Amino acid sequence: PVRVRMAPSPTGSPHVGLVRTCLYNWAFARHHGGTFVLRIEDTDTARNTQESYDALFDLFGWLGLHWDEGPDVGGPHAPYRQSERGELYADALARLAAAGHTYRCFCTTEEVDARRKASGSKVQGYDRFCRDLSAEQVAAFEAEGRGAVVRFKMPDGDIAFDDLVRGTISFHSDNVTDYALARANGEPLYTLVNPVDDALMEITHVLRGEDLLSSTPRQIPLYAALADVGIGTGAPEFGHLPYVMGQGNKKLSKRDPEANALAYRDQGYLPEGLLNYMALLGWAIAADRDVFTLDEMVEAFEIGDVNGNPARFDLKKCDAINTAHMRRLALDDITHRALPFLKDAGVVGDPVTDADAQLLEQAMPLVGERINKLTEAVDMLGFLFADEESFTRDEADVAKLLDGDDGAGRDIVRASRDAVADLPVWSTETIQAALQAALVEERGLKPRVAFGPVRVAVTGRRISPPLFESMELLGRERSLARLDSALA
Ligand code: GLU
Repeated sequence: PVRVRMAPSPTGSPHVGLVRTCLYNWAFARHHGGTFVLRIEDTDTARNTQESYDALFDLFGWLGLHWDEGPDVGGPHAPYRQSERGELYADALARLAAAGHTYRCFCTTEEVDARRKASGSKVQGYDRFCRDLSAEQVAAFEAEGRGAVVRFKMPDGDIAFDDLVRGTISFHSDNVTDYALARANGEPLYTLVNPVDDALMEITHVLRGEDLLSSTPRQIPLYAALADVGIGTGAPEFGHLPYVMGQGNKKLSKRDPEANALAYRDQGYLPEGLLNYMALLGWAIAADRDVFTLDEMVEAFEIGDVNGNPARFDLKKCDAINTAHMRRLALDDITHRALPFLKDAGVVGDPVTDADAQLLEQAMPLVGERINKLTEAVDMLGFLFADEESFTRDEADVAKLLDGDDGAGRDIVRASRDAVADLPVWSTETIQAALQAALVEERGLKPRVAFGPVRVAVTGRRISPPLFESMELLGRERSLARLDSALA
């Protein structure tokens, strides 16, 4: 049975690359009817924070990708936080040592460097000086009071494996030296705990970023050594996912604003939009198709179809995909999802009053088809809910459409006010007919020129829901007040 994991470290704010890794693992597990495990790799206590840990759960909760085993839901291999698995690592270290797969190394970095200089060797890393110390030598080092790290005995011979994404990959054994598994104080290192957990958790496939490709050749023999001492059954299969490139063809780094995964939630993207876009960074459902659901992805996802070439992150494309998913949502659903943003921005109260709820229900049909992100509902609808004191207009739009052109816009607003002030019936149709007659027919203005200033006067912005409908919803009194205040 397929068992995969995502293994994030709770440091900093989660990167979009993590979203893709998580998505591919999830889709792979679901496609094969397997198990998806969440493991928190929090052994680096100096860099982990509770805030980052919480941010991971916020992110996964928002994305809605569910795992079958993990710190919150438990499972047969609990605990799922490395910081709570110390005894298991100590046991693994003891077994590896007893079977002769590791040795204690007393060298200081300075000593290793000095030996490398003296010998003129080009090989980086540890020179195996302590691999075959005699009992007397060990005793002498101990008597000096030296600490000892635990090193893994890398077997000789080149290492090759079949990467699920990249095909056969081979490394010269020269490039992989005996590396440390635990500190002198006994603390296990990441190099140990990551494979130990994969082995104990019976992980069958590791899909992870290309940045980890260079650690795979040293991990593969460790999985074998662990199997030898009764921990797991050997190395899982590996698939290394392509780099995600940002501006200027550089790897998207933590500092790039588009790298922050939670920012997409805060900017009003849909999780299905972001996930769909992230899926495309290395995979395609079909040559001529970009938009799909998660179910469709699960159905079609084959790890062998993933492209190993670097994938370029393109925010415009991400936006377009998100828009496509917005258009698929029912109005009720858009309203429901936009509500937290509307509350946060103070557009509607929290809790929502009955009057606001009713207005929202009437207004949503005007904007549902026009917004690309949920936050745009705030920009589009703010004017409807604002009372006259808190209503403001976009300064640039005012400068252009009301103040610009020698105040021609204000003339238009004045004429509009006169045209609609005494309409016997206040409706979209009567407002439209009156404005059309006064501005387009009588004044000979082009509709775009005629209605722009009115729009800015009434809604505060050049981009708004349809004007006549908006004025109907706003009501006569408030519409006239807006036209008046634009003239003041
Ligand atoms: N904890 C590692 C990271 O966040 C993941 C290692 C792995 O997937 O093997 O980069």
